[in-house]
Amino acid sequence: MTVPAPAGGRAERPRGAAGAGAILRLVRDGRASTRVEIGELTGLARSTVTQRVDQLLAERLLVPAGAAASTGGRPSRVLAFNRDAGVVLAADLGATHSRVALCDLGGEVLAEAAADRAIADGPDPVLTWVEATLDELLARSGHGVGDVRGVGIGVPGPVEFATGRPVAPPIMPGWDGYPVAARIGSRYAAPVLVDNDVNIMALGEHQAGWRDVDHLLYVKVGTGIGCGIVAGGRILRGAQGAAGDLGHIQITSDPSVVCRCGNIGCMEAVAGGGALAASLRAQGVQAADGRDVVAHVRAGRPEAVRVVREAGRVLGSVLATSVNLFNPGVIVIGGDLSRAEEHLLAGVREVVYQRSLPLATRSLRIVRSRLDDRAGIVGASVMVIDHVLDPRTIDAALSGREAVAAAD
Ligand SMILES: [Zn+2]
Repeated sequence: MTVPAPAGGRAERPRGAAGAGAILRLVRDGRASTRVEIGELTGLARSTVTQRVDQLLAERLLVPAGAAASTGGRPSRVLAFNRDAGVVLAADLGATHSRVALCDLGGEVLAEAAADRAIADGPDPVLTWVEATLDELLARSGHGVGDVRGVGIGVPGPVEFATGRPVAPPIMPGWDGYPVAARIGSRYAAPVLVDNDVNIMALGEHQAGWRDVDHLLYVKVGTGIGCGIVAGGRILRGAQGAAGDLGHIQITSDPSVVCRCGNIGCMEAVAGGGALAASLRAQGVQAADGRDVVAHVRAGRPEAVRVVREAGRVLGSVLATSVNLFNPGVIVIGGDLSRAEEHLLAGVREVVYQRSLPLATRSLRIVRSRLDDRAGIVGASVMVIDHVLDPRTIDAALSGREAVAAAD
């Protein structure tokens, strides 16, 4: 099953037109907890509020939660969002390591599993593992397939979001055009959203620590370099889902710098984990990948500290341009190389604060990822919960039920 992309913007409906979905959102956001408050906020007649609240109670999306203090007369019954009215499944498929989780509708992880799986093995073996592991998590937590309200999946490559298919992903042989969302959706009979991993990581970091910041950049610096953009509180994917591809911005015309994408002089080919490991090898220091580079930095090896600091400056020069263009409130740096103590961030800060416009950096924060390896799981669950509890999704589901009931 594929789902349409969530529309941008947070415009509320005019007063008096709020459906059950909008009422659920008021309660979820903590803006209303009684029928009276819902009536005041929406302008709906009391009978309409009662009818829509009853629908949400019947769906178990709302539950009674005791009585509110009243100034007189009958106490007003308090309503609460029921985070146990189903579960969502999340999967973060990395280049060499994958993680899956089962979460309640509040985004809390109830069960989780991880394994070393090469994405390059191709879609069938990887997704077979995902399905078997998710089934195991469902069984372990006492849930059935019928409890699944949605599935969110991140993959290490570009994705056509509307259809949930990877598009020419450079490190995912066999996945080009593979119907990931359709396959997983037919198994769980629920909406499936598939996105580039840096997008969901950006969403996870935003949710976990920066909800008060509307504009955020998340930069993953590992073997490759990618960037997820949160704009106005939502993921900015661009026209074709290719927004944020910072790794392949050209930073040098040196013909000896050949990128795995086939172009010359990409940032990734200079400042990615593989490039730094190669640079250390050229200086006689053994390093196979970015993780080895980080281990050398932590051991205090000066060559390694130097290449990481310089990679930070290179990244900073590209981010300085992004800061002028996009004016984010925070830049979160994640990925393997962000674990190189503070050296990578120091290089980034040095150049960004020097080169970006003063107004754009006045309150800009440049920080390390808080969620680290779990950013993808958190973000994938946020993405799918936002979709399944979106007022339009709720209203469509409820009107579908009404139509079925009327036909019976
Ligand atoms: Zn490239």
